[in-house]
Amino acid sequence: MSYASKLPYGLRKEGDSEVLLHISEILPHESGLRCNCVCPSCGERLQAKLPKTKEDFTPRFAHHNSETCDYATETALHLKAKEIIEEEKRMVIPRVVAHYNNLYKEVTPKREVTFDRVVLERRVGNVIPDILAYKDSRPLMIEITITHGIDDEKFKKLEKLGISTLEIDLSDMDTDFDPEFLRNQIIDSLESKYWVYNAVEEKEKECLKEEYLQIQKKKEEEERKAEEKRKWLEKVREEKLKDKAERIEKLLDSNYQLILKKRWEKDLKMDPIWIKASKGMNISLNTVPEYINVDIPGEVVFGCDRRVWQAYIFYRYVNKKVKLFRDKTFPITVKRILENVKEEFKGRLNYDLVYMKDVAGYNDVPDLTQVIYDYLKRLQEYGYLLELEAGHIFYSKFIVLDPDSVYEMRFIPTEMSEYKKIENLMKNSEWDECKELIKELLLKYSQKNHPKYFDALAYLFDCVIVRSSGRILLERDF
Ligand SMILES: [Zn+2]
Repeated sequence: MSYASKLPYGLRKEGDSEVLLHISEILPHESGLRCNCVCPSCGERLQAKLPKTKEDFTPRFAHHNSETCDYATETALHLKAKEIIEEEKRMVIPRVVAHYNNLYKEVTPKREVTFDRVVLERRVGNVIPDILAYKDSRPLMIEITITHGIDDEKFKKLEKLGISTLEIDLSDMDTDFDPEFLRNQIIDSLESKYWVYNAVEEKEKECLKEEYLQIQKKKEEEERKAEEKRKWLEKVREEKLKDKAERIEKLLDSNYQLILKKRWEKDLKMDPIWIKASKGMNISLNTVPEYINVDIPGEVVFGCDRRVWQAYIFYRYVNKKVKLFRDKTFPITVKRILENVKEEFKGRLNYDLVYMKDVAGYNDVPDLTQVIYDYLKRLQEYGYLLELEAGHIFYSKFIVLDPDSVYEMRFIPTEMSEYKKIENLMKNSEWDECKELIKELLLKYSQKNHPKYFDALAYLFDCVIVRSSGRILLERDF
């Protein structure tokens, strides 16, 4: 049995007025047609169906001569609701919140409103009456829905009229509800109240829409500006790189380099860096050692005569260190030298050549890092340095070798019985005998049985090869 067919109210004529009676108000002797009630919707006579025991069935009214009519329950509840609201003249209504996209605003909080009068209107062409509650002649429409919701047509009409409409959805209510429960649902509870349409909310929604559009417009404007700025910066960058490429091109021109080198040579004598380094090493322009005048590709980056910067590096990182610490120097690094060079040669470096990775087409032109590294490698050939490779030239370390010490011996375990013998050969620069001895020892102390001895000897062998390569010059006994 559907909810709608369990009609809970009947209408009884009492004198000139009509009274809406709940089935629970019908006395036992008034069951059946004796209830003297008609359907609130179609006006047909009703029977009061009262159960003989509690478990029998839900007490209800039923149409006497016809099937039940569609809107009987709804109409009855509207009538009852109107009665309740008229008695109470107040109602708690839910808060009103306006939404537009991601924006929202609480227009009014949940609150109790009072009414001046309540009207039940039976509209033409629609059998469910509307409850209209007025406050200061402003209407609030109250829709009680049970089996029939609010259709699109009705919604459009409400929207057009601008009448705020509150739905009280009672479709979940028990069929044998208590009349007091209905009162609570209508007056105080917010449990089943929803705004179908709220005129204030709609107004606020328009404001939010305006606000949203403003925000969007501002955002678009900002994006457009950011894009413009990005393009401008890109253009500036491209122009800068183009200029840089032109300057690099000029610096790489060999005729131009000749002019520069002549100018630098003229300035050499009075160069403060040269003066300091040459004094420190006790050399003059007439006695410049070969390893302080080495042709290094890309050296034009230094912006001065090569003897200036090579004297600077050699004096500061090799000569001075050996003088101060003998064979107990820390390794020198390309990174550290590069940092100091940038400081000491500030203002004279050709900065366009210091770093060129940002300009296409100059990958094989050595930059400042490469020039420094290449020079250190040449010093290694001369026997002053020994590279500890690091995977990238920027991080490469070089051990400073004291030409007068047997530095390389520091890795040979002193407990090796041949230690003294090797040391003597090293001290006396008897390289061939030294190499022969190491070869023998490499066989004696195999990698499998004496890994520690073997590795140290293998390292020493490489050092002896470097030492005996004939590149060591006599000038370094300063
Ligand atoms: Zn009816």
